[in-house]
Amino acid sequence: MKRRIVLLGPPGSGKGTVAQLLEANFQLEHISTGHWFRREMAEGTVLGKQVEGYVDRGELVPDDLVLGLMENWLTPGNIEQGFLLDGFPRTRPQAEALETFCAAKDAPVDVVLYISCPEDLILERITGRRVCLGCGKNYHVRTLAPRSPGICDVCGLPLAQRADDTLPVVKNRLEFYEKITEPLVEYYRESGKLVSLNGALGSEAVYDEAAQVLAA
Ligand code: AMP
Repeated sequence: MKRRIVLLGPPGSGKGTVAQLLEANFQLEHISTGHWFRREMAEGTVLGKQVEGYVDRGELVPDDLVLGLMENWLTPGNIEQGFLLDGFPRTRPQAEALETFCAAKDAPVDVVLYISCPEDLILERITGRRVCLGCGKNYHVRTLAPRSPGICDVCGLPLAQRADDTLPVVKNRLEFYEKITEPLVEYYRESGKLVSLNGALGSEAVYDEAAQVLAA
């Protein structure tokens, strides 16, 4: 079974929802750098204050901040046990650093699941998205509504729209994705680790395919 997994794809492609399903069914540690940053921002920590301007504008947080965080988290134990990275790496230096961290433990990334998605669907999904600030679970006002309106099914806390899920910021995030993150698709294709999944099919269908890839 594959245990060291990277999820790659534009914002709104369904990475977070698929990651939550994989985490629940494969007992993998799901790390979302975006969720991590939002929690730090909500708690007003030093890191939260350092990243909030970038996150709120829909820009990428500088590599040194992201890598400091990931280097601490990617302990030998976590690398050996397996991980599901959602939102990291997002730049070429981050991808190279991940390779270096893992090579030091002789435990390379097993597979990169690339979830593609057309832009009109991305916009529809992101503007309807609601998220729990407590546990980070994603919902959608129409397609993935919680049992009680506005309340997280898992932890009972209120749901909110992310400040960076508004249209002008989403456009910015998509621009950063296309210019800086999308070239990683080629980078991982060349390494032979890339598996492409069609995000337009919806998170359950993408999960089914991803689960087959992990089990193979
Ligand atoms: P996400 O929840 O993955 O959409 O991430 C939300 C925001 O967090 C992004 O728009 C970036 O501002 C920031 N972010 C998350 N992960 C990274 C990363 N690996 N590199 C740079 N910025 C990141």
